[in-house]
Amino acid sequence: MINIAVDGPVGAGKSTVARECAKRLGIIYVDTGAMYRACALFCVRNGVDIKPENEAEIAKLLNDGLKLEITLVDGVQHVIVNGEDVSEAIRENSISMAASAVSALASVRAFLLGRQRELAANNSVIMDGRDIGTVVLPNADLKIFITAKPEIRAKRRYDELKAKGTDITFDEVLADLNKRDYNDMHRKEAPLVQAEDAVLLDTSELDFEQTVARVTGLADKLGKLL
Ligand code: C5P
Repeated sequence: MINIAVDGPVGAGKSTVARECAKRLGIIYVDTGAMYRACALFCVRNGVDIKPENEAEIAKLLNDGLKLEITLVDGVQHVIVNGEDVSEAIRENSISMAASAVSALASVRAFLLGRQRELAANNSVIMDGRDIGTVVLPNADLKIFITAKPEIRAKRRYDELKAKGTDITFDEVLADLNKRDYNDMHRKEAPLVQAEDAVLLDTSELDFEQTVARVTGLADKLGKLL
């Protein structure tokens, strides 16, 4: 059994890299951002304004009404909310900011923490997020903090959104990304910070394949654990 924690800011390439590494290492990829996105989508669909003053209402809504399932289809994570596959819907740009807001709430983090730890306790995983190495899996076998310069991360995000046909400018993407990072780094609950024992991987000058090779190389060093 092996647990690999991958953290970092928006658009650093965590999820695409972690997904590919999981495939090559023959372990499971867990995208915790998708779980926060699912909670945000559920709040939005239920007409609840995501703000700290509404935390009690949000906690009740999630605890009483949200049945969140994480399933794997051919190694690809699907997020099911009350029976509906919302894997696509949670990728909408508007849900990114809603997820950022909902993730600042302690009760929402508590709601997901047990689920995330359970997945890692029962499977060999590479799990990505913001607080995996610091809070969710402090004893992970390997911790990696992936980052890149903000303009480079925004460009990657912009290309991704444009490819999906989203009507957005580069400056809007950069502003959104900076705002989400600021929120994640400055919140009281599980802020985004590099764990002391995490390996820092700056992908500004690396392409996808080089980044994947770095991560799998670090995992290979764990050898016998795999
Ligand atoms: O990774 P992704 O951008 O999909 O995550 C959506 C949002 O969920 C992030 O902006 C962040 O605020 C929040 N998040 C978090 N902790 C995690 C994963 C995501 O707070 N472990």
